[in-house]
Amino acid sequence: MRQLRSGQKWCYEIFKRAGVPIREDEREKIEIADFGLNEFEKQGMHLFTMIATNRYAAKALALAPLQTEPEHWHPRVDDDPGKQETIRVVYGTLYFYIPGEDTLKNGFVPPGREKVFTCRHEIVMKPGDQLTLEPGQKHWFQAGQEGSVLYTFSSTARDVLDGFTDPEIKRVTDVTEDG
Ligand code: ZN
Repeated sequence: MRQLRSGQKWCYEIFKRAGVPIREDEREKIEIADFGLNEFEKQGMHLFTMIATNRYAAKALALAPLQTEPEHWHPRVDDDPGKQETIRVVYGTLYFYIPGEDTLKNGFVPPGREKVFTCRHEIVMKPGDQLTLEPGQKHWFQAGQEGSVLYTFSSTARDVLDGFTDPEIKRVTDVTEDG
């Protein structure tokens, strides 16, 4: 509960600083995800869903300084080849990792997690930079020292079906009022 409230407050404030418009009454709609790993400061994210329908989704995400979103992909579901997603950085520096040549230099793999962070091709993104992921493409990302805010625009998001490289992640887990 305290983590949820303090996470919502922190996210609301960085959104304001980043120029992401959000109303006071929307603050409690901000979700805090720790992916069931219980190390939210290291691996986790703050998420505000502006719209999510069965055709498209638009969300704003915030990562605390050096916070990492674990490696994952958006799998095929029936006729849908998987979520196609465009990321646009709004605030701070974002280190983004996809498969390819190992150019990891500025960010870091969370200590002890080398096996479950396989993408090492680093893309350094600043506000205004954007990239589009193909369906099914593995990726993970990490905020720089000042935290980071980004928009994601995508086809239908089915977060509970996302695949994660780390077997300790069973599903998307939100920190709820109960725990
Ligand atoms: Zn993703």
